[in-house]
Amino acid sequence: METPSQPSHDRIIIFDTTLRDGEQAPGAALNINEKLTIARQLARLGVDVIEAGFPYSSPGDFEAVQKIAEVVGVEGGPIICGLARTTHNDIKAAADALKPAARSRIHTFIATSDIHLQYKLKKSRAEVLSIAGEMVAYAKSLTNDVEFSPEDAGRSDPEFLYEVLERAIAAGATTVNIPDTVGYTTPAEFGALIRGIKENVPNIDQAIISVHGHNDLGLAVANFLEAVKNGARQLECTINGIGERAGNAALEELVMGLHVRRQYFNPFLGRPVNSEAPLTNIDTRQIYKTSRLVSNLTGMLVQPNKAIVGANAFAHESGIHQDGVLKNRLTYEIMDAQSIGLTDNQIVLGKLSGRNAFRSRLKELGFDLADQELNKAFVRFKELADKKKEVTDWDLEAIVNDEIQQAPELFRLELVQVSCGDRAHPTATVAIRTPDGQELTDAATGTGPVDAVYKAINRVVNVPNELIEFSVQSVTAGIDAIGEVTIRLRQNERIFAGHSANTDIIVASAQAYVNALNRLYASMQRQEEAGKVAIAVES
Ligand SMILES: [Zn+2]
Repeated sequence: METPSQPSHDRIIIFDTTLRDGEQAPGAALNINEKLTIARQLARLGVDVIEAGFPYSSPGDFEAVQKIAEVVGVEGGPIICGLARTTHNDIKAAADALKPAARSRIHTFIATSDIHLQYKLKKSRAEVLSIAGEMVAYAKSLTNDVEFSPEDAGRSDPEFLYEVLERAIAAGATTVNIPDTVGYTTPAEFGALIRGIKENVPNIDQAIISVHGHNDLGLAVANFLEAVKNGARQLECTINGIGERAGNAALEELVMGLHVRRQYFNPFLGRPVNSEAPLTNIDTRQIYKTSRLVSNLTGMLVQPNKAIVGANAFAHESGIHQDGVLKNRLTYEIMDAQSIGLTDNQIVLGKLSGRNAFRSRLKELGFDLADQELNKAFVRFKELADKKKEVTDWDLEAIVNDEIQQAPELFRLELVQVSCGDRAHPTATVAIRTPDGQELTDAATGTGPVDAVYKAINRVVNVPNELIEFSVQSVTAGIDAIGEVTIRLRQNERIFAGHSANTDIIVASAQAYVNALNRLYASMQRQEEAGKVAIAVES
């Protein structure tokens, strides 16, 4: 294991927690392949640290962190981080899972607010202080790079908070993270909290100050930017701002805020106002693609008016602004759509394009598929090229993301056929291969074709569930566009997402439903197999 790079104070460290805190969003659960796909893309995006999971919480989390450490945590790649409570078991599990990474970090946390001490931990301040010191020291004996978080810092007594941080740094913490766990503070308060830490923790110059926060009042990004002005140098954030409740601070908003307004932020980082040096290591041209990938794999759609990555975020060329924009883009544009990788929707491949052209275009788009996946995606591409003359980058991404999302294929859709129209009862027939290899066919009628298909699938699969969300979006313009269907279904309190893309939206709807059912079914099997250690984290 290498020594972590020395604290750099003139660049903002981007710590991505999409795979840990983001994945705790209701229904965002990802399988190992999906996590690995996102981790690879986060590495291309240029995040400094990937918090890959909470290894002790479940065998699945352990395995995912280990795999990401091995595949993505290579020399020159991001630091891979694992979360741990301040216990020997948690910290040891994190260290074990992170072992394959060239650079790894253990992130350990304990609550410091009186309300948490009294009701959750049932411990005194003196006990918390000594546990923090002891457990940071233990983590430090296993890796050089240790991050410590006082949970619910925003509601902790500042004097006690300073004391805990001093103890953690003395024990070897190289990053101290200040979470606004419940999303309660305002920018001025959060800035003052960071300034107080900077001024009152005697050994604070030996650690990077990090911030973590939730968006319950829509203030997470604003709080973080204020924290930067007051000395924070690491931001913990997620793609599209996904996460518990109202989510985390959105990576794309923080990064573009710092990028577009760098002249404003430069002086706070000790740089000349006009310095053009980037404030983060992020390759902003990868932002749009990363956003779509995370949205597709988690099933959490991005609202059209979302800053930076929403479908309408760069739509100001139309309507009344058009004239001004045509005369000079800067009249209405504060940033260029291309800076987030939203390129013109290039036509890249057609019917006659071969496998090599297909493979190399995918490589350029950042997809490195195994042979089997490539073959499946190529078949899909050929089918698409037959129906649609021009296949764009976005179409390719839709196909590939769709292929990645197929696993685990417990139930397999073999056939779907509908008849509908204004004089017919919508009727659907489906054939499905079950996990034990039988092919079962059934039919049903419904209020519409999708309803009929779902009823027919339910008759075969027979897993109780409730459909709570169904949405169709087109990937590109035009009547021959690929339609993407995203659904979410619920069983008891758990939510499962499914996604699929096809030029036929009935086929995409059926496939998305089968994908979600596969996740639901896999989770039912896992629950039977192992008594999962369920741990609620509020870090
Ligand atoms: Zn959190």
